[in-house]
Amino acid sequence: MPDAWTGRGWSTSGWARDAHVRRVRERAIRYAVNGWPVAPLAVPQHGVCLCLRGDCVDPHLVGGVVRQGFQADAVWSEHPWGIALVTEGFDVVDIPPEFGALLNQHLKTTCPTAMAPARRRWWFFLVPGSIPAGQVAAAGGVLHSGVDDWVPAPGTNSETTGRVRWLVQPHLTSWQPYRRRDPIDLVFPSLTGAVGRAER
Ligand SMILES: [Zn+2]
Repeated sequence: MPDAWTGRGWSTSGWARDAHVRRVRERAIRYAVNGWPVAPLAVPQHGVCLCLRGDCVDPHLVGGVVRQGFQADAVWSEHPWGIALVTEGFDVVDIPPEFGALLNQHLKTTCPTAMAPARRRWWFFLVPGSIPAGQVAAAGGVLHSGVDDWVPAPGTNSETTGRVRWLVQPHLTSWQPYRRRDPIDLVFPSLTGAVGRAER
């Protein structure tokens, strides 16, 4: 892969910035190739935004949804944008710590989970429609859902979220959001499998 940055100056800070840009681009590509749509995100820092307006307060999208690795490579080569995870193939259940810690205890490493430390919010990545929005709201949470909604990807550091980080990385669940199961679901597929084997 050609390196778009080798032509730049090699001052220490420039090198560090370029390394950071490269890491973000690699992350964006990794999400896209694993089926997680991404979008370029402008993250204002200390009242300055990289977008044309420049005086934005909150992080916002600066481009459309990117679903292919090569597209991500192109978009993140041009600008050092942050990454938004578009809630197209999963819902993000954003809940306060009193519920988040408990849910995390139950789900452990079966559900991609992130934390936004500024307001101690827990984010759970679930199959769309897993929890009704009203139930999330009743717990003091917010449901992010649909192709028009998004959350800043872990690694993003904004004033409203703090530095978001993964607690359960998505590769641990093979990039699958959590699918709710009750005992019936757990038993019946295995019975079906057993019947299928007995009949052969
Ligand atoms: Zn802006």
